[in-house]
Amino acid sequence: VRGLENHKVAVLGLGRSGLTAARALAAGGAHPLCWDDGAAGRERAEREGFELRDLTRPGAFDDIDLLVTSPGIPHLYPVPHKAIAAALEAGVAVDNDIGLFFRSLASGDWDRFDTPPKVVTVTGSNGKSTTSALIAHLLEDAGRPVQLAGNIGRGVLDIDPPEDGAVIVLELSSYQTELARALTPDIAVFTNLSPDHLDRHSGYGGYFAAKRRLFAEGGPDRAVVGVDEVEGAFLANQLSVGPSDDRVIRVSSERKLSGPGWSVFARKGFLSEYRKGRQVASIDLRQVRGLPGAHNHQNACAAYAVARCLGIAPRVVEQGLHGFAGLPHRSQIVAERNDVRFVNDSKATNIDSAARALQAFDRIRWICGGLEKEGGLEGLHPHLGSVAKAYVIGREAEHFALGLGSGVDSEVCGTMEQAVAQAVAEAQPGDTILLAPAAASFDQYDSFERRGEDFVARVNAALGI
Ligand code: ADP
Repeated sequence: VRGLENHKVAVLGLGRSGLTAARALAAGGAHPLCWDDGAAGRERAEREGFELRDLTRPGAFDDIDLLVTSPGIPHLYPVPHKAIAAALEAGVAVDNDIGLFFRSLASGDWDRFDTPPKVVTVTGSNGKSTTSALIAHLLEDAGRPVQLAGNIGRGVLDIDPPEDGAVIVLELSSYQTELARALTPDIAVFTNLSPDHLDRHSGYGGYFAAKRRLFAEGGPDRAVVGVDEVEGAFLANQLSVGPSDDRVIRVSSERKLSGPGWSVFARKGFLSEYRKGRQVASIDLRQVRGLPGAHNHQNACAAYAVARCLGIAPRVVEQGLHGFAGLPHRSQIVAERNDVRFVNDSKATNIDSAARALQAFDRIRWICGGLEKEGGLEGLHPHLGSVAKAYVIGREAEHFALGLGSGVDSEVCGTMEQAVAQAVAEAQPGDTILLAPAAASFDQYDSFERRGEDFVARVNAALGI
């Protein structure tokens, strides 16, 4: 990390991210002083020869220039960690690894390149991981060197030294953007803002941080902004110098956007790109198997826009879209046999994301259930029209099945094994067997990932793969 030579920098939290930050700071000539409430973290740092300092003691920040904190350490809510409170009291600024990364770039870290790497950031409420992974896939497919980091893949200070002309794609949670003191991407993507995320821990933080970055002097060359919510529309307008300013690319998964600027939108399964009021390209997304449903069409539009900003031709992007396999556990097609599709959306742990998945397919044999979230299942009732039958798993499967109401044929299966076997036995050509539980997994699994893996294993067993 450049830009902090000879400065004393406190590092709070000595897990993977904290230790990486300490190493990067030391390598750049700064003097890290490390602390973790846990002895294990402190021992790891000592083993690497880092100096420890108890940052919770009075006077700990007297000679410190900056505090670098780790994910998971509360910086505001419900209350700041003691060391962060002490830094604030002493007038010492707080930063994170993302902020250090951009500070380093601003200090000339990439000046040696003929074609300096470009940085793309992805923020928003939903679809961040899918959009980030898709951008990386499209660029790779077009032959550009690319690295995926941030909230997905590895930490941003852990990336390999980039090649000339490389692209770094950073997925950023609102927690990360809130803390980072510098955010200066070349291309900034704002996917969407879900009203459900409008709490100060995620939605507003991500929204305002995106705004802050986008409004900054010398902001990004391009901004790709989802305008389906008023906040995104506001953001796009504030950023543009008039409606024909094509530094902002507006993205919608609902509306035709054919104004004088630059836009990419999906309607009735087709992606369209418009520039200066004229259609530039059109892609049939219904043929793109790895990105089913309107929500994924939004992700496809945003990723397409980024690829176009980086000079990739529409036909090349289209080819790349066809090769995208989807991310594990997110509307991921895991098998196909006798015209029956098997889809793993184990990440659909709440009503909202399950409803999205149910809208994405036509005739669904739906595996659902688990640890029910508060608020009941009524929110799902309007979305059950495409469900041929529900196969309910979980410890409280009977209760869950009752909650689905009488509008849908359902069977209490209990286990994943039973549910998959039953759905396979009853499937007709054209059906989709979909795991989208609308519930947490913890009654039967350690995580949604384990649940998704179990689904895939049972499917493979049923198909003799
Ligand atoms: P994030 O990284 O923002 O959590 P993911 O790509 O991991 O987003 O997707 C999380 C869940 O939200 C999945 O169940 C997925 O099917 C759903 N989802 C994906 N993209 C969108 C979108 N654009 N809008 C709404 N929901 C989405």
